[in-house]
Amino acid sequence: MIFPWLCFSRFWTKSSPSPNSVILSGGRVSGRSRRTCGCSFRKSAPTLRAPSFERFLLEGWESAKLRVRFLGWPIFLIPLFSPLTASSQHFDGAKAYEYAREFAAIGPRWPTGPGHVKAEEFLRAHFLRAHDQLEEDKFTADTPIGPVPMCNFIVRFPGTKPGVIVLGTHYETNYPLRSINFVGANDGASTTGLLMTIADQLRAQAARSPGNKLDGYSVWLVFFDGEEAIQQWSRSDSTYGSRHLAAKWGRDGTLNQIKAFLLADMIGDKDLDIQHETHSTAWLVALVADAARKFGYQQYFFKQDMDVEDDHLAFVERGVPSIDIIDLDYGPNNSYHHTAQDTMDKISAHSLTIDGDVFMESIRLIDMR
Ligand code: ZN
Repeated sequence: MIFPWLCFSRFWTKSSPSPNSVILSGGRVSGRSRRTCGCSFRKSAPTLRAPSFERFLLEGWESAKLRVRFLGWPIFLIPLFSPLTASSQHFDGAKAYEYAREFAAIGPRWPTGPGHVKAEEFLRAHFLRAHDQLEEDKFTADTPIGPVPMCNFIVRFPGTKPGVIVLGTHYETNYPLRSINFVGANDGASTTGLLMTIADQLRAQAARSPGNKLDGYSVWLVFFDGEEAIQQWSRSDSTYGSRHLAAKWGRDGTLNQIKAFLLADMIGDKDLDIQHETHSTAWLVALVADAARKFGYQQYFFKQDMDVEDDHLAFVERGVPSIDIIDLDYGPNNSYHHTAQDTMDKISAHSLTIDGDVFMESIRLIDMR
């Protein structure tokens, strides 16, 4: 439930600074890109807060408890307030962090490397063990170093309503960084852990429902390969997995079923500051802002406009409503991005809780549209 008078983000007040141009991805900034933001803006320390409306009612309850104590109000009022505690449950960011830690522990996962094979084995084993509907979308990418075998993983949770919501991340690391022990704790691993935990929650939801189906649209999770450039970022040397899958789903008609595509990239950052990515579909950005507002998370979302090339573009270009939920400001002066400093100590369960809350609430809001 949304109470628009509670707070307005800069996204809503349209007071955001002028768009900054970033050519990248989870992402590499190329020579022709410029990035004028991301390093200078300050962020407040993250705090988990109960939804504002709940706080209002809980404060009301605290006040009611005082009256019970002093005035002896009837105890039967308690059930009126008890459902609120259930709705204040948060996403299990600690579990997402643990998945991310296991995944990053594989080490560098650059295409053609041994870690990439292990990463594929990790995802395959996990979803087979959970008995999920898993598809391995294998293809050969035409890259500057020649043909490279790649594999997208697609995990499907069927719903009762016709239509699909797709959540995506990439899981591999950068081929050009294969010599520096780049494990991509934030860039690849954090959002892989996030989607794995979302899968846990969807699986549990489906198990409680008749026919083992989600109550709403189907949700498909896609773990893209080949998001990073093999040599240097360009539209042809990047986002291999998403370009392949969007084209394939365009040919076979699958794209017509997709109600929304939500991409997660680099949002494990302890210092979470998710930009408003300007290629993203306006209504979907507004919906995600609504989802964030429900939890009082406005401070983490959409304070800056940024133009980012990422795995959502192939879907945007084919008319699929899409959003890139990305934090491209990672460390002092972005110094952790695409460096050996992108390690687990730079990401947090707290940020993954925020992400998960907002992704799950966004699914619910899309189902209600
Ligand atoms: Zn990256």
